[in-house]
Amino acid sequence: MNVQARDAAQEFGHRFGRRPTVSRAPGRVNLIGEHTDYNDGFVMPAALEFATLVAASPRPDRRLNVYSMIMDELRSFDLDAPAATGRHDWSDYVFGVAVMLERAGRRLQGADLVVSTDVPLGSGLSSSAALEVSSAHALLTASGLPFQPIAVAKICQRAENDYVGMRCGIMDQYVSACGVAGAALLIDCRTLESRNVPIAPNLKLLVANSAVRHQHAGGEYNARREACEEGVRLLKPALGAIRALRDVTPEALEANRKLLPDLIYRRCRHIVTENARVLEAERALIAGDFAACGAAMNASHASMRDDFEITCPEVDFLAELAQATLGVYGSRMTGGGFGGCTVSLVEAGAVKRVSQILVDGYRVGCGRDAEIFDCSPSDGAGLIPL
Ligand code: ADP
Ligand code: MG
Repeated sequence: MNVQARDAAQEFGHRFGRRPTVSRAPGRVNLIGEHTDYNDGFVMPAALEFATLVAASPRPDRRLNVYSMIMDELRSFDLDAPAATGRHDWSDYVFGVAVMLERAGRRLQGADLVVSTDVPLGSGLSSSAALEVSSAHALLTASGLPFQPIAVAKICQRAENDYVGMRCGIMDQYVSACGVAGAALLIDCRTLESRNVPIAPNLKLLVANSAVRHQHAGGEYNARREACEEGVRLLKPALGAIRALRDVTPEALEANRKLLPDLIYRRCRHIVTENARVLEAERALIAGDFAACGAAMNASHASMRDDFEITCPEVDFLAELAQATLGVYGSRMTGGGFGGCTVSLVEAGAVKRVSQILVDGYRVGCGRDAEIFDCSPSDGAGLIPL
């Protein structure tokens, strides 16, 4: 049995004195398509082997007790007297999911929960979605209800939007719920349909954690979203029935540039060109044209740096160092931005050498230690057999 699952089950036994089920939901790395999800666009993430586990067992009442091993804290919640807003701590992710599951018609039983994770927190690998989706899986299982991946992803997104107060798109929850081992998912965030994009066995997704996380990340994220909405509002008179930047081509944006203040124009240019790059990366991966996929990733990084302005000097350094290293097809920041991780598409045989170059270079260039993870796409949420 999985060591992390055994530890979580053991902790559960000590605290609550019964045998739990163990639900698992992974973190993710986004290969390309940043901030496009809430613009009804395209993204291409893969679920990771890093995951959050929730050991759980039902209670006869309507109380939820959740203990997080990494926080070493216990929080409680009464499903019959749910607070309308959270307490502004980690338990909001869990209780927000419970509230939104009930609002979506899933009548829950009380439960005891123990949370364990090996997803790095706050690094852009989506420990938040892993916590939401694993909690949803555990709560539904404890209540004898089915786990419907796409419906659950939407409910978890609602929890993060309306209970935690982070206006994230659907990508993280979707891939955590629906991921497929060996493949990235090309997700159409308007239709919520996805296609598997196999990652060839001679390719590795090398994740480098800058260990930098800027405090204002959440506020900046929401501000980017507002800039995109403002762009749609200003373009509507010229372009007619557009609902989101998904409906705007790069050509249409250029033709109507004069309608937009420069800052809004650049925000929009990132989104419309990024959507095109996601589709190009998908085509390239399927064709085995890894260089073309890498070029799209490099262009994505430049667009996030110059137009969307969501990178920072440390992740710029890591991405640019990787881009200049032999054996790397492409590299970019991954996740919401303002710190966090880069992802590089790397020839499997070059992983060790590239990792060393990134660690050494980052220490010299930025005076910090980068953690490197050599990742392969894993499955989405499910029950771990005990
Ligand atoms: P990311 O999703 O990139 O990791 P976020 O800021 O969106 O970063 O989410 C990180 C937050 O999620 C943490 O600060 C914490 O509140 C919560 N969280 C994630 N995993 C756990 C866990 N295992 N136990 C408690 N809280 C967690
Ligand atoms: Mg998150």
